[in-house]
Amino acid sequence: MALIDARTLSGHDAIESDLCIVGAGAAGLAIASQLADSGLRIALLESGGLNPDPKTQSLYTGQMVGQPDAELHQSRLRYFGGTTNHWSAHVRPLEPIDFDSRAWIPHSGWPIGLSDLAPYYARAREFLHLPVTAFDLRARAQAIRHQPWVFPEDRVLTQVIQIVTKKHRRLGRTLRYRIRASRSIRTYLFANVLRLHTSESGKRITKLTIGTLNGRRLSARARHYVLAMGGIENARLLLLSSQEGLGRDGGLVGRFFANHLEAGVGQLVPGGKHRTEFYWKRGPAAQSYAALRLARGTLAAGKLANCRIQMIPARPKRASGLDLDIARVVADTDAMSAGRLGLAGGKHAPSLNLHAIVEPVPNPDSRVRLGSERDIFGQRKVALDWRLSDFDSASLHRTLDQLAVEVGASGFGRINDLFPEDGFRSVDPRGSFHHMGTTRMHSDPGKGVVDADCRMHGSTNLHIAGSSVFPTYGTANPTFTILALAFRLAERLKDLLT
Ligand SMILES: Cc1cc2nc3c(=O)[nH]c(=O)nc-3n(C[C@H](O)[C@H](O)[C@H](O)COP(=O)(O)OP(=O)(O)OC[C@H]3O[C@@H](n4cnc5c(N)ncnc54)[C@H](O)[C@@H]3O)c2cc1C
Repeated sequence: MALIDARTLSGHDAIESDLCIVGAGAAGLAIASQLADSGLRIALLESGGLNPDPKTQSLYTGQMVGQPDAELHQSRLRYFGGTTNHWSAHVRPLEPIDFDSRAWIPHSGWPIGLSDLAPYYARAREFLHLPVTAFDLRARAQAIRHQPWVFPEDRVLTQVIQIVTKKHRRLGRTLRYRIRASRSIRTYLFANVLRLHTSESGKRITKLTIGTLNGRRLSARARHYVLAMGGIENARLLLLSSQEGLGRDGGLVGRFFANHLEAGVGQLVPGGKHRTEFYWKRGPAAQSYAALRLARGTLAAGKLANCRIQMIPARPKRASGLDLDIARVVADTDAMSAGRLGLAGGKHAPSLNLHAIVEPVPNPDSRVRLGSERDIFGQRKVALDWRLSDFDSASLHRTLDQLAVEVGASGFGRINDLFPEDGFRSVDPRGSFHHMGTTRMHSDPGKGVVDADCRMHGSTNLHIAGSSVFPTYGTANPTFTILALAFRLAERLKDLLT
């Protein structure tokens, strides 16, 4: 039985292991499960229990001091399985361009490329029980019997986003038994890591302090440590440990916080006989949907950030309870012809709503700070200063202009009511609950917090897992890349420890 309630331990019970993983969400569970048969001694420290409890969840409260968004205790879940206990499970790998250093996007560029992650993306696909053909255009076309639009010279591309089945998406539930059965892993529930301690030189983590809500103080010692507490909390713990030389004020820890922006950005009226089902239709054979994005050359020519545009059939009035196929039937009626290129759609035209997911550009002033409020342990809570830049808004505006031109020129339809020039001032964007960037990866210690292996610069034994290491953010939902990086890190840790 390797599930231990940390509240029952005494202060003398130091937790000793080869590898200590903090956080049992997507990243922490992926690493632990990968090493479950390794024979290593692994301590998995998790703040919550196997089920949600309000007192532990309240440790996630904090202040939003920048762009308004969902409250911090609502956008994250603090128990075994982490935020995957309520994620939507839409997944896709990043695009090759997302890893590139792009001259028109300051601070862009990963020290690794898509080819470095490809084998681990394959493992992430298996881990989530997705078919080999996930993300494949032809497979989706066959499954739903509709084709994607093809644009000349690939100026606009179609991409498939996969949805993990209900059976496999709650990682805390699906992995609980495997983690519990492992002889290598001891999972400590209700164990809140409060501080990291370093050796005199600051190069090595020597131990962690753990607090429990019933007042116990414990410590954990390991040869190597991984922080896997999510995109905000990873930075918070480093900032809280600044007396140890980690996350000093003015440094990079906590900076470059990003969240994908989502906004309704216009309507598309399909033209002529062109069908749109490829983009939105789902069914038992296709747990996926598709989106449009500008191709690399078009992005480079326009100096644009990445952006994906989804089409959502506008439901006819009082259509609640009807499924999307009803919207398709409506789209097939005479009104369809009114959507031909160059003709006014008219108020009865069967338009589709356009929904954008925008890649924000890296912004050092957008950051996780420590606020003045304190939690039950007396630890400073997060003050999240999320900032958008004018580039984000201008890039989206120009992307939609470009897309409207391409869609119109190809005869696929026309795009109306576009995102306005004054951008996010008039269209209220939302965050996607994708917390990224606060411990960014760069091979230069002056420009990043972790190196290409997710090891903290200047430390010999501290690694970071999760989207906090993303130096740029693409438009893909982050968890697929979190998993791929976690599997890569697990392999590296195994090499270091055996
Ligand atoms: C409503 C919603 C929908 C989403 N939909 C999608 C989607 O469709 N696709 C997608 O890719 N992503 C989606 N996400 C984001 C996704 O949930 C996260 O990217 C993912 O869960 C991050 O994994 P993680 O392991 O880094 O963090 P988490 O899953 O948040 O896990 C962190 C773990 O660390 C623990 N922890 C925190 N602090 C401490 C501490 N001090 N001591 C010990 N343990 C600690 C927590 O209890 C938690 O278990 C969604 C998020 C939300 C809120």
